Formats: sequence, structure tokens, C-alpha cells
Amino acid sequence: MPEYDAVVIGAGNGGLTGALTLAKAGRKVLLLERHNVPGGCATSFVRGRFEFEVALHQLSGMGSLERPGPLRSILGELGVLDKVEFVEIENLYRVVWPGEFDITLRAERGAIIDTLQQRFPKEKEAIPKFFDLLYGFSMQMIQGLFFHDPEISKEKYPLYFKYAFTPTQKVLDEFFADPVLKAVLSIYWSYVGVPPRDLPFGDFAIMLFSYIEFKPYHLKGGSQALSNALLDEFLSSGGEARLSCGASKIVTKNGKVTGVTTEHGDTVNTHYVLSNASMLQTYLDLIDPGEVPAGVIERFRSTDISPSAFTIYMGFDCEPGEIGIHETSNFITNTLDMDEAFSKWKTLEQAGVGMLSCYDVADPDFSPAGTCQAAYVTLLYGDPWYTVPPHQYYDAKYRYADEMLKLAEKVFPGLRDHIEEMEVATPMTHLRYLGHIKGAIYGHEQYAKDTPYFMSHKSPIEGLSFAGAWAMSGGFQPTLMSGRSSARAILKSMAKK
Ligand SMILES: Cc1cc2nc3c(=O)[nH]c(=O)nc-3n(C[C@H](O)[C@H](O)[C@H](O)COP(=O)(O)OP(=O)(O)OC[C@H]3O[C@@H](n4cnc5c(N)ncnc54)[C@H](O)[C@@H]3O)c2cc1C
Repeated sequence: MPEYDAVVIGAGNGGLTGALTLAKAGRKVLLLERHNVPGGCATSFVRGRFEFEVALHQLSGMGSLERPGPLRSILGELGVLDKVEFVEIENLYRVVWPGEFDITLRAERGAIIDTLQQRFPKEKEAIPKFFDLLYGFSMQMIQGLFFHDPEISKEKYPLYFKYAFTPTQKVLDEFFADPVLKAVLSIYWSYVGVPPRDLPFGDFAIMLFSYIEFKPYHLKGGSQALSNALLDEFLSSGGEARLSCGASKIVTKNGKVTGVTTEHGDTVNTHYVLSNASMLQTYLDLIDPGEVPAGVIERFRSTDISPSAFTIYMGFDCEPGEIGIHETSNFITNTLDMDEAFSKWKTLEQAGVGMLSCYDVADPDFSPAGTCQAAYVTLLYGDPWYTVPPHQYYDAKYRYADEMLKLAEKVFPGLRDHIEEMEVATPMTHLRYLGHIKGAIYGHEQYAKDTPYFMSHKSPIEGLSFAGAWAMSGGFQPTLMSGRSSARAILKSMAKK
């Protein structure tokens, strides 16, 4: 007899919402997490008097009370909405190339159009037309794809069928001539990790649409507050969690899950495992090679791994205004050649496109009184960091950070003089804390071929399924939502038996 209806491996966003969904449905669930805190990427750490947010720059999908987005509804159903305070960030972002341009966009369609029309008068007519397309396309994508319209067709959703896989750069080129305007509009590519020449317009449009319509949000207490709330609710719903206790083996017999062995050496019986660990780790490290069905490993040869991140966490001895920080989200660039910037993510050379988030602008209580903090991040692939010998790692990491700071100082003069605490995370840091190959933060590459559009994430092993970035796509909203939908599939399967 199984001791647990399900075992969830990993307490990242996907693992937490998956475990909670199962526990709320009355199932007996064990959640195993290797780290000593829940959250995976969605955690914080303390240096000096600062508690640094590891990952969350802008939460998408929340929406307001009056106009709830999909994430607000899900967190409400999971019982954690009133346990965390969500702070709306007024401006979408500031994009600045020191000495070249400096543009801030409000998270509001009309205001964005006005700002861009004033700044780019030659593109005055094209700007609203572009937003008509962006909105028209997004509405068709939501109705046709997300709401699973059984009658989805080219005739009913022409914009969706025409543009879903068109490269974002191509659409921008159709509308605009000014390279600055194109760069400002498409800068979210550096969040997703796919440059505009490859980024499907569908992915770009729905992201920009969602951030404008549902607004970017910050969490009081950082993403750790949400991870803690999810874990607390899981425990109150009867779930059992073991932190600092990873899973070392998924036990299978005749192609079916029968149990899980923990890193502490005990084996528990279950017929269902929901893995928030990477698919590669799950198949290669946690399951006996003889039990992994033929073809499963082969399939990974045609997939790519997403970027990781390089982040400088800074605690300042002053208020944001004193160092000229007036926006929460600041994209800083020194190029308009986004293809080149992207190609540098695969090297140890400075990419020149990053995002500096100062949470204290939207939430003045975030850091101790009279101080503030910022996370300055650029995405990067893990590969080149594997080539750095251990004795050169420290130098390589601080050299890279130094180059990034030189660029940031051009925007925020004197920033370095006010740093009281600083910590730097590389892809190796994320590899260490998350256990994901190459320190990947989004699972597989977010380029269409490796997303659920074309790749089934179902496991051929009966009782095994996945939640989180490796199961769907990366980012807070998708991973929080994926845990819930994977858990629902498990509940359906349980109900059939
Ligand atoms: C620096 C940085 C900035 C980011 N910025 C943003 C942003 O602004 N907006 C956004 O939407 N997204 C952002 N992301 C991405 C987002 O945080 C992630 O995509 C998302 O949180 C991943 O969630 P997940 O469910 O896949 O789990 P993960 O966070 O990957 O966690 C997986 C968990 O599984 C555990 N685990 C692994 N193996 C085992 C095992 N064998 N046994 C037990 N436990 C195990 C790990 O310890 C970990 O806790 C950022 C990420 C980083 C690192």
C-alpha cells in the first residue's frame, strides 16, 4: 500500500503549487526539497542588513482586484492571495543607452503610444497601428489557444495564424524604420532569452500585452514571501514537507512509479511522482538506466538548454533617489545590435544588455530605512562558465561584474561609492542551488521548437510527471501555473483508478 498518494520532488514554484493543489484535494503528499528553504529561484538570501531578492524582477499575470489576471485567480484558489502583499509597479520600464537615448514607458497602452509618438514623430502613424496588431493578435491567442476554442481555425483567428511564429524582428521591420524605437519596444527579449530575430511574435506579443494589461508586480518581502506562504498553506492542508532532504531515486517497476528514495536513505511508497527537478536530472540521475524507456534520452539530443543568469546584488547605504534611481525596472544597453548582444551570452565577453531592478522605488519599506537595494541582471548561458578553472573563477566573476558596473555607473553616477553589501551570482551559482544543468533558469530553450507547442513533456513512465520550467516554460507566472495544471492531471488519473 502506498504511504503517500504523491511525492513532489523540488519546492520551486512548480513543485509548491503542484504539492498544494494535491494536498488541497485531500491527497496525502510528501514534498522533498534539497535546499534548506522553499522556492528554488523564488528565494532570498541575507548579507549584512539586506535581504536580497534572488530572481523576481517583474511578476506578470496578476492584474488588479477589479481586473484579475490568470495568476491572481490561481493564487486565490490556492488560498495564498491574502497572505502576500502585491505591489503594482507603475512604469513598465526605462530603457537607456547612456549618451544615446533614455525612454521610460508607463504600463498603459495610451501612455506608451503618446510617449513613443512624441519621441519618434516620423513613426507617428505606425505606432498605434502596431499596438492594434499587438492587441488584436493577443486577444485571438487568448480566445483561440488559451481558452481551447474547439473551432480554432485560420478563418476565425487570422492574426493568430499569420503572426504566431513570425519573428518579432520581422514584424517590427514591417511597421517601423527607427532602430531605437524597435529596440525600445522589443527589449523584453532580454528577459525571455531569445533575440528578436528568433523570438516568435506570439511569445513577444502576449508578454508585452500581459505586462501592459495586468501590470508588472513586486511582492512585499520578495518572492520568498510567496514561497513561504505556499509552503505554509501546504502544511496547513495536511501536506508533509522535508527541507534539506532531496530525492536520490525514483523507484520504478515495469514502467511504473512505485516509490521514492530520499537523500537520507529511506524509501517511501507512492504511485505518483511530480518532479520539479530538471527532466535531465530526473531521467539521468534519479531513475535506474534500465528503467528509462528507449528514446527518452535520445529526445534530449535535439533540445537546447535555456540561458542562466549573471546577477549583481547590491545593498546601498542611501535612498534610491540619491544615486539617481527613479524607476523600479531599468534596462541598460550599450548597443542596438541585439543579435550581437545575444551571441555574447555564449561567451565570457560583456553582453551590454542588462536590467537593474530597484524594488525600493515601488516599495520603500523593502530595505532598512535610509537604504535601498538593486539586482542588476543579464541572462547568460552556462557553457562558457564550465571552461573557467576553479582557481580563476573568482577573478572571472568579478571581472564580469566590474564591466557591468562600469556601464551602470554611466546611468547612475556614484553608484559604486554607495555599495554597502554586494554579492554576485553566476550560472555556476544557479547550478549549485537549483541542480539544473548549466544553471538553466528557464528549463529548455524558450525558442518555439523546445516549448510545449512542439514538444510533449509527458513521461512514458506511468505515474511520473513534471512541473515548473522544464514542464512548460520558464518564468514565475508559467511555473506557478504549471504546478497546478500538472497536479490536476494527476488528480484526474487518480480519480480514474
Ligand atoms: C536571477 C534570476 C532572475 C529571474 N528573473 C525573473 C523575472 O523577473 N520574472 C520571471 O518571471 N522569472 C524570472 N526568473 C525565472 C524564474 O525564477 C524561474 O523560471 C522559475 O522560478 C523556475 O521555477 P521552477 O518551478 O521551474 O523551479 P526552480 O526554481 O527551478 O526550482 C527547482 C527546485 O527543485 C529542487 N530540486 C532539484 N533537484 C532536486 C532533488 N533531487 N530533490 C529535491 N529537490 C530538488 C531545487 O533545489 C529547487 O528548489 C529569474 C530567475 C533567476 C535565477
